[in-house]
Amino acid sequence: MPELPEVETFKRYLDSRSLHQRITGVEVRDAYVLKGVSARELARRLKGRRFENTHRHGKHLFVRADDELWLRLHFGMTGSLEYLKRDEETPKTARVLFTFANNGRLAFDDQRKFGEIELIEDVDEFLQTRRLGPDAFEISLSQFKAIVGKHRGTLKAILLNQQLIAGIGNLYADEILFRAGMHPAAEAPSLSDKDLTRLFRATHYVLEKAIALKTDFNRLPKSWLLTRRGKGGRCPRCGRPLQSATIGGRTSWSCSRCQKRI
Ligand SMILES: [Zn+2]
Repeated sequence: MPELPEVETFKRYLDSRSLHQRITGVEVRDAYVLKGVSARELARRLKGRRFENTHRHGKHLFVRADDELWLRLHFGMTGSLEYLKRDEETPKTARVLFTFANNGRLAFDDQRKFGEIELIEDVDEFLQTRRLGPDAFEISLSQFKAIVGKHRGTLKAILLNQQLIAGIGNLYADEILFRAGMHPAAEAPSLSDKDLTRLFRATHYVLEKAIALKTDFNRLPKSWLLTRRGKGGRCPRCGRPLQSATIGGRTSWSCSRCQKRI
């Protein structure tokens, strides 16, 4: 599932290929993806405009087409973006295609159909309506301490709660907790000020590193948990078998030796 690092990677990809070109057509191949807008309306509002810039908050990507017109993209379980040059073959699971004046096309690809595309007028208003917390990559240490320090519940559930901190999903939450040496089921109120700082630094490091590597799992450091999650996986630090448990409603993988319940 695309989490903050994946969506940031899509943002940079879109920025490098699809900005400032006149949109000449919008083809909706599967309307499930449209939220609150029809295919005809989407095309009518975007045609003749250009994607001017982008903004990401948590797992949402906003693409500005005009002062009061933003395209909101959410990638669901399997969404991604692909820029197709003239005559390049369209992927089978492309759901919406934006065509530009140079005949290049930006495809919103989504195999499992949980993605969302919407037109909105105001990004801040959208964030408030959804009550999304601060972005996990932009959040300051003091904001982080105030949010995590004052909430009850397990660390895993808190990291996954988009209304507290936006952008972290199941995989990166496990990686962050592994790096911080904290068990997913550890209770937030038991963290000291020093622990909170450590968790914040682990969050920032993991997100930054994943973005720098364009979320290519083959290039992730060998010391990471991410590629070892799953049956038979062993802790990259101590070699013990990893353990799984449902915490915060999701399957968490952790090492009982390296990660303390505090
Ligand atoms: Zn270990």
